[in-house]
Amino acid sequence: MTTKLVVPAGQAFTLSSGPSGASPETLAALGSPILYHYDPAFLETYAETLELLRRAFVTESKPVILHGEAVLGLEAGIASLIRSDDVVLNLVSGVYGSGTGWWLRRYTDRVIEVEVPYNTAVSAGMVEHALEENPDVTVVAAVHCETPSGTVNPIAEIGPVVDRHGALFFVDAVSSWGGMPVDLDQWKADFVVVGTQKCLGGPTALSLIHVSDEAWSHIGANEAAPKASMLSVLDWRDADGVVRPFPFTPSISDIYGLRACLEQYLREGAEAVQARHAVVAEATRAGVEALGLSLWAEDRSVCSNTVTAVAVPAGVDDAAVRKAARFDSGVMLSEGEGSLIGKVICIGHMGPSAYPMTPVLAVSGLGRALRSSGYKADIGAAVEAAVSVLDG
Ligand SMILES: *Cc1c(COP(=O)(O)O)cnc(C)c1O
Repeated sequence: MTTKLVVPAGQAFTLSSGPSGASPETLAALGSPILYHYDPAFLETYAETLELLRRAFVTESKPVILHGEAVLGLEAGIASLIRSDDVVLNLVSGVYGSGTGWWLRRYTDRVIEVEVPYNTAVSAGMVEHALEENPDVTVVAAVHCETPSGTVNPIAEIGPVVDRHGALFFVDAVSSWGGMPVDLDQWKADFVVVGTQKCLGGPTALSLIHVSDEAWSHIGANEAAPKASMLSVLDWRDADGVVRPFPFTPSISDIYGLRACLEQYLREGAEAVQARHAVVAEATRAGVEALGLSLWAEDRSVCSNTVTAVAVPAGVDDAAVRKAARFDSGVMLSEGEGSLIGKVICIGHMGPSAYPMTPVLAVSGLGRALRSSGYKADIGAAVEAAVSVLDG
């Protein structure tokens, strides 16, 4: 009999596909005094945070912060942008893209979908073809990183195609921005939503949004765009607490947390952050394969650098494996979502969870758990494979 070690929550390694944990600096900032939102000290913090976000987004346009988890930003964006006369092309390569379609159909009954198997990506050629067949498309919607699939769509190639067609481009970059290259200008992106709890390693409470001038005009012309509503981006466009009051009380603590996250991101530098994610992702993929498992993605070229989806081997109960990884090794992994539940186990390596030992922790925790389910996992080979990628 061996003794079961139960790892307390505070000492577990959170390698989920978000939330991704937070640095001590971020946690300390989240503990700042909860000021009155019109206190000059908070107003200054708020203005600084928006400016840091604008710099991090590498854009001239002023970003919008909505005070709710990224789903709020996505739903608000669709509610604001999409009019009943819009024709939307929705690109579906996973669970999130499929969910986008559900929201889109609430505002227009003219939604066309390009759907591909959830272990692949939508190519720019497919989008070009769909736009030729449907010349009246006014908005194209896409997900950059399909988190449960661990895959990415080639947004940098799709963006210019959408732009040439003259349509607006709505992008869910919730789990990619801050870990992978996102170039809002090159993408010709009009409405982009980012989450704070993924690659930024922040609280789970804010939606960070880029809105282009064209998107603002489209929203301005939409009489049904939410106003005086939690779903309103218009309410927050000019609100700064100084010239214009806040529509409602902002999430004070989360703004402090976000400011700390952005300072750390800008200090490290986007390129260094992306390089760290790239090497950790590659080491994770190598380790997973050496463990004897298969990546869910059909091809490495579509794999995300922020999350790795592992195909659950036949006969293995994914819930039992994740539970064993958590309780026996203190390694918290994610389950799939929607139609991918039971088919994948996701290893998050985003923001603070993209550190050099992430792949080693992930494959050893996962390997031990698989062994307890009777699956032969070569943990030694997996660790060796991961480390040799880290060694370059
Ligand atoms: C995390 C995430 C969101 C936010 O949704 P939740 O299901 O609440 O976590 C939206 N889009 C993508 C691609 C995400 O990874």
